[in-house]
Amino acid sequence: MNVENFRLHGHELIDWIADYYENIEELPVKPNVEPYEVFNNLKQKPPKNGESFNVIFNDFNHKILPGITHWQHPKFLAYFPANASFPSILAELLTSALGAQCMSWITSPAATELEELVMNWLRDMTGLPKEFSGVIEDTASTSALCSILTAREKISDYKINESGFGNNIYRIYCSEEAHSSIEKAMKIAGIGRENLVKIKTNDEFSMLTEDLEHKILSDIQSGYKPLCVVATLGTTSSTAVDPIEDIGKICKKYGIWFHVDAAYAGTAMLLDEMRHHLKGIDYVDTYVFNPHKWMFTNFDCSAYFVRDKEALIKTFDILPEYLKTDLDTKVNNYRDWGIQLGRRFRALKLWFVIRHYGTDGLKEKVKQHINYASIMKDYLDKDPDFEIMAPMLFNLICFRYNPQNLIEEEIDLVNKELLDTINATGKAFLTHTKLKGKFALRFVASNTNLEERHIHEAWRLIQSCKQ
Ligand code: PLP
Repeated sequence: MNVENFRLHGHELIDWIADYYENIEELPVKPNVEPYEVFNNLKQKPPKNGESFNVIFNDFNHKILPGITHWQHPKFLAYFPANASFPSILAELLTSALGAQCMSWITSPAATELEELVMNWLRDMTGLPKEFSGVIEDTASTSALCSILTAREKISDYKINESGFGNNIYRIYCSEEAHSSIEKAMKIAGIGRENLVKIKTNDEFSMLTEDLEHKILSDIQSGYKPLCVVATLGTTSSTAVDPIEDIGKICKKYGIWFHVDAAYAGTAMLLDEMRHHLKGIDYVDTYVFNPHKWMFTNFDCSAYFVRDKEALIKTFDILPEYLKTDLDTKVNNYRDWGIQLGRRFRALKLWFVIRHYGTDGLKEKVKQHINYASIMKDYLDKDPDFEIMAPMLFNLICFRYNPQNLIEEEIDLVNKELLDTINATGKAFLTHTKLKGKFALRFVASNTNLEERHIHEAWRLIQSCKQ
């Protein structure tokens, strides 16, 4: 493709993107396709000769797009969102145009220094301690793995990296509501899934610290080495918050690494009125939140903060001859702050987003989302046929349909059917979870383009789909 063709098709694509967003509400949020329908509809062999852009783009429109779930549809109310926004999309365009690989300072000084700057901004904007240093990882899963590996190394005096585990069996603790990425990190870090100790939660799905201390003590007595506690600030099922201060005191008492997973709800810390959830943050070693979830920054962008950056770097650094430069002691080489060597220029989109909205604009949007969720909560509160299943701390509400005529055994099934009926309309997309064994629908009000009218429409849809 020559530069003139690139210019032509580039303009076409920007128009396409603008039209897509203008008309997105006409598309079904979740596509109505069967497994392998898309696959079988595509040419099964790569073309021998190159094809024109128009042919490829036509296939995109007719064969790919019908199989896409529209995450940026305002009534994508499922999982947690992966919010995009126009400034972020434009920055991603520039990032791909530059095609820079930002593993070291020298491989793109501006990318490294912008990363340091925006991470300082984010740290201060969300009320985190000044001692934290930040780095952008791809996901919260990777960030949790980095924490567990750093804890593993620091607590073993960096011996496991050198010579393996020896006879030590390490233990990591999280609540029964923690995200599955912690379990995955246990597998990858070689600690073993069975050494992840799940701590009970209270009626609000928040970690019971008495149970935590009890399990730590009994593990020590049995010869295990407690390594790390992972607390969640905003669990995936219901956005419950673990008591950071109480957990922090226990970690300090027993010399245990403390990681906080605020992947989703961390964005709410932009608001002063939410900062009480951070009480005890001074005990925390590492903290992660994902601007790619609720802060309007295209996937992927995970803001990872670490108190002792030397421990992180000592865990991950490698210095083969071909990467050495004269400046290595003076600059950040982010390849040594995590797992991957090659790194995308993710700081640019974050910088665009923060500058576009401004800190007040971001706060305003987050407040709006919390307000929209309260509108749905009011509807649910006022309808005796619906039951709210967990406290609403941010902008996720868990509920179920529970009219008087149903017995407990029927309720799960009826709610599964309600969810399927709602999603089959294509007019909204919700997902579910189980809370203390009970099936619950999750309604997440945090899409970039969500407006109040969408909440009213969603409520009318729920009403029309119930039996
Ligand atoms: N932690 C929590 C609390 C989450 O809700 C999620 C995903 O929803 C994750 C971690 C994993 O996030 P990522 O996809 O960035 O790895």
